[in-house]
Amino acid sequence: MITLSSELRFCDRCMLKTQHEIIEDPEAIYTYKRKRLYKCKECGHKSYRRGLRPSAESVY
Ligand SMILES: [Zn+2]
Repeated sequence: MITLSSELRFCDRCMLKTQHEIIEDPEAIYTYKRKRLYKCKECGHKSYRRGLRPSAESVY
């Protein structure tokens, strides 16, 4: 597990936007459906979510 960065996302538990750590599973990179694990820095709630703009990701 590699912590890449933090992002402002809506937390289902805090019921508001909080800073989330983005954790990307290296094993998931090679799968078709790549999801990122977001961990709320406020309450520690974890949830799998897709990127904000999947279509904006660079594809080379
Ligand atoms: Zn939270």
